[in-house]
Formats: sequence, C-alpha cells, structure tokens
Amino acid sequence: MNYEKQIMGKSVAQLQVDYPIIKRLAELEETTWINSGRLPSEKAVAQCPLTMADVQDASDRLDRFADYFKVAFPETQATDGILESPLQQIPHMQACLNTEFDCEIPGKVWIKLDSHLPISGSIKARGGIYEVLYVAEKIALERGLLKAGDSYEVFHSQKFRDVFSQYSIAVGSTGNLGLSIGIMSAKLGFNVTVHMSADARQWKKDMLRSKGVTVVEYESDYSIAVAQGRQQAANDPFCHFVDDENSKTLFMGYSVAALRLKEQFKTSGLTVDARHPLFVYLPCGVGGGPGGVAFGIKQIFGDNVHCFFAEPTHSCCMLLGMATGLNSAISVQDIGVDNRTVADGLAVGRASGFVGGVMAPFISGCYSIEDWRMYRMLAQLADTEGLKLEPSALAGMYGPVLMTTDSQFAAYPASAGISRETMEQAIHLVWATGGSMVPPEEMQHYYETGKNS
Ligand SMILES: *Cc1c(COP(=O)(O)O)cnc(C)c1O
Repeated sequence: MNYEKQIMGKSVAQLQVDYPIIKRLAELEETTWINSGRLPSEKAVAQCPLTMADVQDASDRLDRFADYFKVAFPETQATDGILESPLQQIPHMQACLNTEFDCEIPGKVWIKLDSHLPISGSIKARGGIYEVLYVAEKIALERGLLKAGDSYEVFHSQKFRDVFSQYSIAVGSTGNLGLSIGIMSAKLGFNVTVHMSADARQWKKDMLRSKGVTVVEYESDYSIAVAQGRQQAANDPFCHFVDDENSKTLFMGYSVAALRLKEQFKTSGLTVDARHPLFVYLPCGVGGGPGGVAFGIKQIFGDNVHCFFAEPTHSCCMLLGMATGLNSAISVQDIGVDNRTVADGLAVGRASGFVGGVMAPFISGCYSIEDWRMYRMLAQLADTEGLKLEPSALAGMYGPVLMTTDSQFAAYPASAGISRETMEQAIHLVWATGGSMVPPEEMQHYYETGKNS
C-alpha cells in the first residue's frame, strides 16, 4: 500500500482512518457493506439522468433486430429472435447452502441463467451485443440503407456487410465482453479488434480468432486493455470504441433484462410486492452489467426489490468506491490489493465512475467473496442442480446465505421495513452471469478444484 499517495486531496493513510473498511478490504477479508445512502426509489428515480423511457427505447431496438437474429443465428428462432435466458428455482442448492452454513435461508432461492444466453454465453450478450446493434443501426440510417417498414433481415446481407466492412469496432475486455462484441461485430461484417487483459482465457481468444476477430493480448490488467482500445479508436473516425467504463449504450442494453424478468416472473407465477420482496445478487466487475440490470429492475419493482453487488476479495473495486464515496477515483491497487482472481469476468481494479455514480442511490449493499468459495459453490451447484457455471457466476450465490449469517446483512430487512414474517415470502434471485460456453475440459478442471475447495 502506498500510504503517501493522494486521492481527492487525502493520503491513503488518512483515508484508512476515515474509512476503517479500507483496512479490512486491504487484508483481503470477506466484507459486507450496507449502503446508508440508498434513497427511496421514487426519489432515486427522480434524480437519475436515465429513465424508464431509455430502457424501453433499448428494448424496442432489440425487438427490431429480432428478424435479423432469426436468420443470422438460427438458434434464436425458438425464442423468435429474442436473446433471453431461463429463470428457475434451485431448491436443492438452497438445501445444500442451509446445511453447509447451518442456516435457514428464509423464502426461496431462484437463479437467472445469463450463463445460458445464446450467442456468447454470458451476461455480456445483453449489453455487448446491444451496443454493436446500436452502432450498426445508426450507420445504416446515416447511409440511407434502411427504409421505414424494412425487416431487419437486411442486416444479414452482403450489401450491409460490404458497408460495415468500411468501419471498425474496438473494445478492451477481460474476456466475455470481447467475446460478445467480437462475435456480433464479425457477423455483421465490421472489422473488430479485441484488446484482452492478462486474465482472458485462451479458449476465448482462440474462438474469436477463428471468427476473424483481431485479438491483441496484454500482460497487464483490464484498465490497460481498455486504455489501449480507447487509444486505437481515438485516431480513427471510422472506429467505434465500446467503452466498458463509461458507455450508457451498454448500460441500457443490460437494463432490458428487467422488462423480460417481469414477464418471466408472471409466467412462473411469482409476485413481487411489499409482501413478497425480491433480493437480487449480481456479480460485479466494472459495474456496467450488474448496474444496468439493477437499474432496470429498480425502475420496475421500486422499493420492493433490493439489489446487492458481489465481487472477489482481490477485485473489490465497486465496494471500495461506494463505501468510501470516492467512486472511480480509487482503485484496489491504491490500497495494496492485486486484482488477481480466478473470477476472470470480475477481474477489475477500478469501478466505472459512471455506474458508481448512477447506482449509488439505488443499491442496497455490496459484499466480497473469496475465490475458493466461488469454486466450492460451482461444484455444489453442478452436483445439486446439474448447472455448470464459470467461477465469476457464483459470486452472487453467497448473497442469500449472508442475509442470515452476516450481522449487517441480517439486520438489513428490518431497516428496510421488512418483517421476519415477510422475509419468509422473499425471493432471492442469484444472477448467474456466465459459463455455458466454457470448454468441457476446462469446466471439469473448475469442478474438480471446487470439489477440493
Ligand atoms: C463481465 C462479467 C460480469 C460483470 O459485469 P461488469 O459489467 O464487468 O460489472 C459478471 N460475470 C461475468 C461472467 C462477466 O463476464
């Protein structure tokens, strides 16, 4: 730790005195934090620059592209060209957690399987793909390629590919965002470059190269990969940079999940209201994915939903930024934490300032979790429910447990006006963010590590 370093006019040593939580995070202790700055939804919504109209606009755009998906990715025909993931209850995993932690999780634990989203097998299939479509539509309109009433099937044509081949797209990623942006951009005919941090798995790079994507590898972490992508694009007016740290477009793409979830709840016979509160636990890297999803969910379910972000102890950037109020001005490296984790999707040392700012009044809390625990729950979920996820996707699974075993989290419902009785009707939704495309040998290795953790 560099005690002398100044952040927003204070030394790290002083910050540690002001915010004792920093010491705990620096020691890599699993940590919980409840957001005392959370506002009643109505107030938070009123002061937010983004609105429900923005969520609807993004949803409408995805609907317009449904005809395109049906022809370009035939696997989406079953869902009529809509990319969506299953929602299911996981009673056997809930029982396993109760036994393991000698607790009784009140209510029911459900899982949202973004791990099984079509095309790129992670939550990035929401925001990442959406931003590429946004750019493609904009170019098509500017170039006069689209007439009112045209089916978007035309995006899957040589004529469109020829036009898009005059443009390029760049992105920096720890792996999954690159996979989504790369696959989607290449399919539409763009030249696409993915700047991969050292965390990125080899199979993700191999898969992208096989699809004609240019992959640039870095020895360094995510922030550097992003900076390099930004640099490349800055010098080229025909290059669009997907800015994972600041993009409102990505954020809105993620937020559409909420509209879909509302329908899935209806179909599954689930009610969310004051007597049936919803708790959502979202794995968090830079913040765009979980932030966008939580933003949409808060717009729709208001004060009846409570969102928590989950991060590895080694990459607890959002927790650090929110708990200190320093947001993206502080990084985990500033407090001597190394940003090295097996949860490659979450290996981010500095949170998005944009997301941290927008979400500060909406979020209920954050927690950090050790890598071995993600592995262990990975194996348990495979054994109890037959669901195979990548390590990052298990970060949220600890949330329902903490609501009963952690003193701060256990006190949260009462502080939010939720009685014990009402908690018995709670829905805990674990957002599973990736894993269906992990090669079987690699998954077997994850599983065995989990069995031994
Ligand atoms: C990217 C990612 C996340 C988190 O999304 P951010 O936008 O980086 O916060 C969570 N899980 C997986 C598997 C991911 O790939």
